[in-house]
Amino acid sequence: MRKLLILGGTTEASALAQALAGEPEFDTLLSFAGTTRAPRPPPVRHRIGGFGGAEGLAAFLRAGRFDLVIDATHPFAATMKRNAVRATDAVGIPLLGVLRPEWSPVAGDDWIVVAGMAAAARALGDVPRRVLLTIGQKDLAVFRNAAGHSFILRSVDPPDPDVLPIAEVISARGPFLLADEITLLRQRRIEILVTKNSGGAATAAKLEAARACGVRVVMVERPAPPEGVVTVPDAAAAMQWLRAHEAAERGV
Ligand code: NAP
Repeated sequence: MRKLLILGGTTEASALAQALAGEPEFDTLLSFAGTTRAPRPPPVRHRIGGFGGAEGLAAFLRAGRFDLVIDATHPFAATMKRNAVRATDAVGIPLLGVLRPEWSPVAGDDWIVVAGMAAAARALGDVPRRVLLTIGQKDLAVFRNAAGHSFILRSVDPPDPDVLPIAEVISARGPFLLADEITLLRQRRIEILVTKNSGGAATAAKLEAARACGVRVVMVERPAPPEGVVTVPDAAAAMQWLRAHEAAERGV
């Protein structure tokens, strides 16, 4: 049996855990950072919390005698991605990346593409706007510098109220439907939507809704993923890779 660590916190990681749950040749452990208060219980063993940097992860991999790591963290989880490369290099085991494709603008979109969250705050401009933030919790503080705007936040968990004055918090977890996204933009009279270029189907409807409603999108580009990691776009491709890898290991 092969011991497999999945670095998770994404739809892809959950789908992969689901696919691996019935596979007798893999002993799978799914790891969550613990940033979301109530992760859905997965169908494989799981653990919660950081490892203590790349060294901590390397020690964890050695102690648990893991054979392979799949980094299926979010496209914006840059630190964990870097640590996964360093730790698997140090231990000498393979690393597979799962990274969903980016969203791209299509005809009718009004996107301002920016390189980071501070640039997103600047891109809101000086005229007070009604702004929908769908960026999670971590980067809210940079919007303090754009305090003239009225912020509505959609987030899985409630934010710390001291970080940024928010006019309304919508507590919701995707997937989201187009009709509901259009209703949200219209009812709240949203003028600008701020989002990370996370990619994926579960939260893409907001972009279509923005196009339909003439809402400007401030799109934050992804950090560059680490170089030299074999990467696939989804859980199905990761399963294919795993089967091919195992067959090669067994020499069949
Ligand atoms: P990050 O900045 O790359 O990582 C920060 C630290 O969190 C890491 O150094 C690690 O701590 C710990 N960590 C991250 N992912 C982990 C995992 N799967 N298991 C155990 N520890 C983990 O990551 P982030 O952007 O804060 O994201 C945290 C988690 O939320 C990830 O699992 C990610 O997939 C998920 N997520 C992130 C976003 C986003 O927009 N960033 C969106 C949706 C979901 P140590 O150094 O102590 O090991």
